[in-house]
Amino acid sequence: MKYAAISINFDSLGEAYGFPPGYKDPSFFDVAERFFKIAEKYRFKYSIYLIGKDLEKPENRECVKKWASQGHEIGNHSWSHPPNLGAMNKLEIHQQVEMAHEIITKTINHEPKGFIAPAWSTSPEVVKILIELKYTYDTSGFPSWLMFPALLKLLLNHMNDRRFFKILHRKDFLYLLFGPRDSYITTGSLFKSSNVSDGNSITMLPLPTNKYRIACWHTLVFMFGWKIHEKILRSCLRENNTFYYVIHPADLINKNDLLNHSISLERLGTPLWLKQRYLEKSIEAILKTGRKIITMEELAKEQKEKD
Ligand SMILES: [Zn+2]
Repeated sequence: MKYAAISINFDSLGEAYGFPPGYKDPSFFDVAERFFKIAEKYRFKYSIYLIGKDLEKPENRECVKKWASQGHEIGNHSWSHPPNLGAMNKLEIHQQVEMAHEIITKTINHEPKGFIAPAWSTSPEVVKILIELKYTYDTSGFPSWLMFPALLKLLLNHMNDRRFFKILHRKDFLYLLFGPRDSYITTGSLFKSSNVSDGNSITMLPLPTNKYRIACWHTLVFMFGWKIHEKILRSCLRENNTFYYVIHPADLINKNDLLNHSISLERLGTPLWLKQRYLEKSIEAILKTGRKIITMEELAKEQKEKD
């Protein structure tokens, strides 16, 4: 049996896009409901990586509790979404990972087991902290040169937000070009290690790429159009044993959700019905390969048994 997972990097409007503190973030409400409708239609569960700070709001916590009780996996996407996590110092990285870990654990009553670094900015220090906190897998690796145009896109999306120039501070440029494309086990570096044992290692699930190191995640459909995106998606499905598909709240955000706030985001020009269709078509392409959609935690377990 082959498997796939659908993971939501939960870049909320409040924390990832810096909307004001009093703002009721539709990412947790109307937008999330659109995602769950699709999960019901195709009968699968998401793996949802949350920004810890978002859970300071009781209304957001209530939503997340409900999602967890419905069987969706809840993972860690840092405390405040610093786009240069991998380049921060040890103490700052500890705070980012641990504070989010604590508030997520309190909210859902069990510890998260998976992590994704904001903007895929990671480092050996990030991996070591995850092992200390007994995470079973990390999904922060981006073994693709597409990070270079993606960084440019991120800068454009966050032009009004000066902290986002920090996305250029990274420690993983070598990994982008030479990092392993298949899943692997490590004891605390960005590359594969030998001498692994259960207590000292973590399963790394790099973002799926094809043999040309073209990465596949849903945002690309808004940059390349459906035809090219479908080709990349199919090649990644063909060439990867471990496949997961990364999506973001912005993939189903409608202009009306923003009220009077403005953000620059290439997907905003696409009407909502077409966005919903793109996501459904991508999920249909994944299911057509005969894969069963499971959570990332289950996917990591399957993979570990094979390795
Ligand atoms: Zn993010």
